[in-house]
Amino acid sequence: MNKLITIFLTTLIILLSFSVYSQRNCGTTVYLNHQQSQNPLLKQQMKIQEKVIQEWINNSKKSNEEIVYIPVIFHVLYNNSTTNINDQQIYSQIDILNDDYSRNNADSINTPAMFDSLAADVRIQFCVSHQTPDGDWTNGITRTSTTKSTFELSSDEAKFDSKGGIDAWDTEKYLNIWIVPEIVEGGMTNILGYAQMPGGSAATDGVVVGYNYIGNIGTVSSPFDKGRTLTHEIGHYFSLYHIWGDDFNACTGSDFVDDTPNQASNNFGCPTHPHASCSNNGDMFQNYMDYTDDDCMNLFTIGQKDRMLAALNTQRSTLITSGMCQAIYIDKANDLNFSISPNPASSTINIRLEEKSSSVDILITDVTGRIIMTATTNNNEIIINTSSFPNGIYFLQMKDNTKLGIQKFIIQQ
Ligand SMILES: [Zn+2]
Repeated sequence: MNKLITIFLTTLIILLSFSVYSQRNCGTTVYLNHQQSQNPLLKQQMKIQEKVIQEWINNSKKSNEEIVYIPVIFHVLYNNSTTNINDQQIYSQIDILNDDYSRNNADSINTPAMFDSLAADVRIQFCVSHQTPDGDWTNGITRTSTTKSTFELSSDEAKFDSKGGIDAWDTEKYLNIWIVPEIVEGGMTNILGYAQMPGGSAATDGVVVGYNYIGNIGTVSSPFDKGRTLTHEIGHYFSLYHIWGDDFNACTGSDFVDDTPNQASNNFGCPTHPHASCSNNGDMFQNYMDYTDDDCMNLFTIGQKDRMLAALNTQRSTLITSGMCQAIYIDKANDLNFSISPNPASSTINIRLEEKSSSVDILITDVTGRIIMTATTNNNEIIINTSSFPNGIYFLQMKDNTKLGIQKFIIQQ
């Protein structure tokens, strides 16, 4: 009998821990409440900013916004080889963000018909920054070895050298994303990530995420293996609240967005549509700002887009003009001279080095920082087939043992 009870209890514990483990938990609301308790003025400032956001939406919104590029720097804080996730996993996250924020996500077809007309191309895109604050080359990723296996949310351990993390890069120019072994806070479990909403301190601005919730390859763990944790957290970073208004069943809370249905509480897993609450015709649990699984989420709304662009154009406007996505290190990296012709080009480009060099590495990236091509050559004249390159702006870097040169070229097929 005792054995049976033990088996029963063990099974129950496993089932309970599995159900807890598989539920999304975002730390942003707890983090915001903590920041407001530390700084009573913050709540007042955010009320004022709320008016600024609504004013921008009413008066300054344009019908056809240009795409805005946000430079991202990833800080990997690792305590072993598993948590030191590889570059490709990180870059896969950039692709996901760019798909989700432009509504190019393949699963947009899963948006229910009743919400389809509300779904938005947010007109925000992200690039891996290739320039450090000092103007040097970077692959957009810093790596810091640490003995810490957990990083506390309220004390922002990830964001400071002095606490075992790493200091932010200039938060007016970069979206800083810290990738950590595990986020912890009091009795909370399974915190996938947390963001600082606009208005907080510059030193702590950005997003923290667990190493197993970033991108869609490598160490990601189901059901949070499609990169939607950062899609959600960056929504917070651009001033979005949770879609249910964080009131947990009262139906009185608001996310300050008009076109998201009033919703009682957070949804988990992937409910069957329609799943109604607060007298709505169905919760929009497919929204990135709910708590559903990664493969259940597929849209931001037009109202959320307006709100994000309002925050971006007011409190986060320095990101737009930071120039860290487009221009790259041209002032520093100009001592290896070469020409590209024709420019604009279509099927081929001819690269001509002014001086003969023994061996030169070639790297071509697109405007989002994605690596398009690498090669090595001994010749001082090279022809590269660009017929498969989509239209757009590209950067070509050439590097020998001592010199580096970078130039921009345009493809028009
Ligand atoms: Zn959240």
